[in-house]
This record gives sequence, structure tokens and C-alpha cells, in this order.
Amino acid sequence: MALMTGDQYVESLRKLNLEVYMFGEKVENPVDNPIIRPSMNSVKMTYDLAQMSEHEDLMTTTSNLTGEKINRFCHIHQSTDDLVKKVKMQRLCGQKTASCFQRCVGMDAFNAEYSTTYEIDKVYGTNYHEKFKKFLEYVQEKDLTVDGAMTDPKGDRGLSPSKQVDPDLYLRVVERRPDGVVVRGAKAHQTGICNSHEVLVMPTIAMRPEDKDYAISFSIPTDTKGVFMILGRQSCDTRKLEEGADIDVGNKNFGGVEALTIFDDVFVPNERIFLDGETEFAGMLVERFAGYHRQSYGGCKVGVGDVLIGASAVAADYNGASRASHLKDKLIEMIHLNETLYACGIACSAEGYKTESGNYIIDLLLANVCKQNITRFPYEIARLAEDIAGGIMVTMPSEKDFRDQKLGAYVDKYLKGVASVSTENRMRILRLIENITLGTAAVGYRTESMHGAGSPQAQRIMIARQGNIAQKKALAKAIARVEE
Ligand code: SF4
Ligand code: FE
Repeated sequence: MALMTGDQYVESLRKLNLEVYMFGEKVENPVDNPIIRPSMNSVKMTYDLAQMSEHEDLMTTTSNLTGEKINRFCHIHQSTDDLVKKVKMQRLCGQKTASCFQRCVGMDAFNAEYSTTYEIDKVYGTNYHEKFKKFLEYVQEKDLTVDGAMTDPKGDRGLSPSKQVDPDLYLRVVERRPDGVVVRGAKAHQTGICNSHEVLVMPTIAMRPEDKDYAISFSIPTDTKGVFMILGRQSCDTRKLEEGADIDVGNKNFGGVEALTIFDDVFVPNERIFLDGETEFAGMLVERFAGYHRQSYGGCKVGVGDVLIGASAVAADYNGASRASHLKDKLIEMIHLNETLYACGIACSAEGYKTESGNYIIDLLLANVCKQNITRFPYEIARLAEDIAGGIMVTMPSEKDFRDQKLGAYVDKYLKGVASVSTENRMRILRLIENITLGTAAVGYRTESMHGAGSPQAQRIMIARQGNIAQKKALAKAIARVEE
């Protein structure tokens, strides 16, 4: 079974024995929890779309390991065409969910691990690459969702992992056994981990020789003993708990979810370890994973942007303002910004190249430029969406008032826009804009655009490194006929 259906995916999650906490309580049934369910539906969409013939070319491909048809989210990119299709697939998934569909972190981790393990083995004669391929075959065969876990809590940012007052602030090996290692630590902001079958752990920064115990990468099932998740709060999250919640949640069926994930002395068997102590390769793994994930944002955020632009245009229609030239211009600006992000995602893919291991990696400079723009443009797109929507987006009475016997008629009457549109539909569109710009989906569309796949400064460091100022100076000197 190389392709699961969406329903099979949901059933497969039921079989996991996850330890998940929210609001100080253990969640006994994450799959049916009203706060988690929409985020699970977003991942389910990556399975559902793969079953549709019209999306087959983007959503599925052929495994280089087994020759089987697999979901592209489990794929090792074999060409620049694969890289381009990855971005297109993410835009599609963003359009269908208007949120973070979570499965990309695993895909990006697979591709970073694939090439890095190959290069470690070449230097050290280790067998990480073969072990990793075996793990990946299992993932592809079962069509699993894997959480790529990179970000450690990091404690004092001025100190390296081994110099922290609390040694657990970066995940580390605390015990070595003949059959594996025991690890302790945490991974923060884990996108979709409670909807994942496996967690693929990577180090979070480049390391020095003294950080040996922190240079560890491995994968284990998410319900391994000692692993537990504390879900993050999102703005307006408890609206999902309200009885009959519908209009007010904005995006009823889809969402994203993150968790602080604790590894409380967790055993990792040898066959699942893909880096252990080769400190100088931690940086390569981080840089490649971050590069792939910065490319990813040129797809997923653009797809969500498409929904937000559409919602803004509908809001303008419902207000009877769509013929105003300044509104038309604002929509044009939103499209321009959104397509610029897409152009960066496509460009870093088209300019990708083959690694020593044979898989394809994006152009790192362009991927970092892509993500740097992502830290800005969604904010401007959101600003324009709020401008077009009007203040009513945040002052509007609740759905309960709208349904109330006495108040309903007044809400209906005074929230009316153009006469031909129902107040209910106007409320629905405004709540969707609220959801993406300020509500639960704002985690994925706004703040994640800032900090996901690395905060803006991380990209600027890479841009400085890759930007080749020396070559540009030489160009200028040649044109100016400067002789030194
Ligand atoms: Fe995928 Fe985007 Fe979510 Fe990252 S933020 S997991 S790229 S949808
Ligand atoms: Fe992300």
C-alpha cells in the first residue's frame, strides 16, 4: 500500500498511542478533538488530493528507491522539475486548506538527510545513508506523515549547546547503549507533530567539537515511550469548542497545530540513527533543511494568500465597493506581492542542482531570498485585506447573536451590505479574513511567515554568505575601467 486514502490516514492515527496535552489536561482522543481535528484535516488533504486524477501529476510520483508510485510528500527530488512540482503542490494544498498542512517539514527533512548522510559516510565510512534509505522506504511504503523536528528551545542564545546552564536546552544524548542511545531535550514549535506517525529529529545549529552529544539525528514513532506533546495556544482557538461553532471560527474544517515536544529520556535504536557526533555535518543538515523549507514557503503561503485575496475581493463585492478604483488597485497589489513570492519559490527550484547523493537541492541564495520576502509580503497582503474588509471584521457581533431570537433580526438588518447578499454570507467571508489575519490561521499565515524555517536574520546571514559581493565588485571595476 504505497498510497493511503485520507480515511485510512485518519484511521492510522487512531492506532497511535500519543501522549498529547492541552490546557493542562491529557487529550485522550486527539483525532476527534475539536481543536486538533481541523489541523488533522489539513494533513488529510495531502492524502485526499493524491487520490484525485486531476492532481495526480503534482501529488504523486515514482520513488527512486522502490520504483513504486508514492505521494510526493515522501519523495526524494530527482530533478529541478520535481522541485518545481513540489512548490506547485504546496500552493495547491494551501488553496484547499487556507492553513498549514504540516506534511512538508518531513519531506524537507528527508531530502536534507538523504544528501547529508551520503556525505558523512564518504568522510567517516559510516552507514547512515543506507540506514536512512531503509527508513525512507518504510515511510514511502506506508505513506506516513513525518514531523521534521529541528528547533531546540535554545536557552541563552549567546551560549553554545554544551555551555548552557541547563544542558537539556538542546536535545542531546544522555546515555549510550550497545543497541542505541537515550536522548533528552525538547523540540519547540513542532508543526503537526500530533498528526504525524514519526518524528525525524535533527540538530538546530552548526556545532563545535565539544557539542558532540548534541550532534544527533534520528527518527522514532511519535508514540515512543517518553515522547509527549504540549500543544500551543492559538488566538481564538476556543471558538472551536463553542457549541455549534460555525461562522465564528472562520475556517471550520482546516487549521494548523504546533506543540512543544518533550523527549524525556527516550531510547533510539541504532538502525534509526542518522548522525551521531559528526559535529561538522550538523551545519550542513541545518542549512539544507532550512533551504528546502524556505523554498516550501514560496508555495504554501502563496496558496493561503490566494484564498485571502479571494476573500478580500468577495468582501469588496459584498460591500458594494468592488468598482472603486482604489479597491481594484489594492487587489492588484495583493496579487503582485503574492505572485512575487511564488516567482521566488519557482526560481530557487528551477535553479536547483544535483547533490553528490543524486537528489536535487534548491539554489540556496534564491531560497533564502524567497523566505526573506515571506517575512514581509504576507504582512502587507494581510494589511490590505483588513483595509478592504473594514472594521466590521473585528467588531461584528457573534454568531450566537445572529441566531438569537430577539437580536438576530437586528444583526441581520444592520450588518447587511448589498441587498442581494445575505448577512450570513457577509459574516462568513469577514470571519475567514479574520481567521487568516488574526485568528488561528494567523499562526500559519503571519507569524510563521516571520519565524518558520528561520527568522529573518537567519536568511540575511545566508544571503550575505551566498551573495558574492566580490564578484559584483569585480564587475563594477571592469565596467569603470578601474586598475588597482
Ligand atoms: Fe508546509 Fe508551509 Fe506548513 Fe511549513 S508552513 S509545513 S511549508 S504548509
Ligand atoms: Fe512551517
